[in-house]
Amino acid sequence: MIYPIVKYGNPVLEKPTETVTVFDEGIQKLIDDMFESMYAAKGVGLAAPQIGIGRRIAVVDITFKEDPAAKLVLINPEIIHTEGRHTQSEGCLSIPDFRENVSRPNKVTVRAQDVHGKVFEKTGEELLARALLHETDHLNGKLYISHLSAIKRDLMKRKIRKLIKAGEW
Ligand SMILES: [Zn+2]
Repeated sequence: MIYPIVKYGNPVLEKPTETVTVFDEGIQKLIDDMFESMYAAKGVGLAAPQIGIGRRIAVVDITFKEDPAAKLVLINPEIIHTEGRHTQSEGCLSIPDFRENVSRPNKVTVRAQDVHGKVFEKTGEELLARALLHETDHLNGKLYISHLSAIKRDLMKRKIRKLIKAGEW
């Protein structure tokens, strides 16, 4: 099932999510739906709040279907190590048509659980590091615009408010 993507302005995007404690078929189905919804929206990462579900689950595929082995399920992820710094243009499915340069660590390790509840660690660099940080942020109720300067963030929010008012969001 393809879920519509929740856009900026919906409070579900700015609330911390609930830890997953039960790993059942419902979780497997939700993850399948999340990958389907992410691909349909042409994204390389998706967090559950972006489909209106306040649970600590995210999916990532920075190869966008090219390498099935690159599909990553992150349940209850925590960033446990970061290294370096890298600035790159970043966007978010929940804030369509906007992109900004964001400075983030260049190498990160995440500890998470897989679909069966098994704990694993994954280290990623560059785009993967950015995706791991971006999606973990989502699960903490944090959007990438929180990493921008106040001036840039306010400008973007103003533009979005105009779009909302015009019914174009
Ligand atoms: Zn996002």
